[in-house]
Amino acid sequence: MSLNFEGPVPAPGVPCAVLRCGGGEETYVLRLPGMGGEVTVCRSHHDAIIAGERWAWEGKERRMLMGSDRTGDGRFVATDASVAQRMDGDSALGWNTLVVDFEDEDGETLRVTMNRDLAATLGIFS
Ligand SMILES: [Zn+2]
Repeated sequence: MSLNFEGPVPAPGVPCAVLRCGGGEETYVLRLPGMGGEVTVCRSHHDAIIAGERWAWEGKERRMLMGSDRTGDGRFVATDASVAQRMDGDSALGWNTLVVDFEDEDGETLRVTMNRDLAATLGIFS
């Protein structure tokens, strides 16, 4: 996705839209594709975005998320999943459990182990 910024615009006191950023002496304006709105970011976040650092728009808080704010706090975005059965006599979940590996677009894996009842509730296994 190509992004178009306008700026730099001298804007002391105008906060950068990136969560936890203190802003800067000049900002850049970015019109969010398909969102009908615009945000301002500081020079350092402008440069990071232009360099390819990934970001997300949090519509509820109206902030941009970057770095660990984008990926952390349960914000794992699964784009693929695989399911395997596990027989484990020592498991608190019972002998017959399922292991679900969720994978994000970078290949990072989040593994969740559950019993068959929960898997059935989630529609993963019947
Ligand atoms: Zn910033």
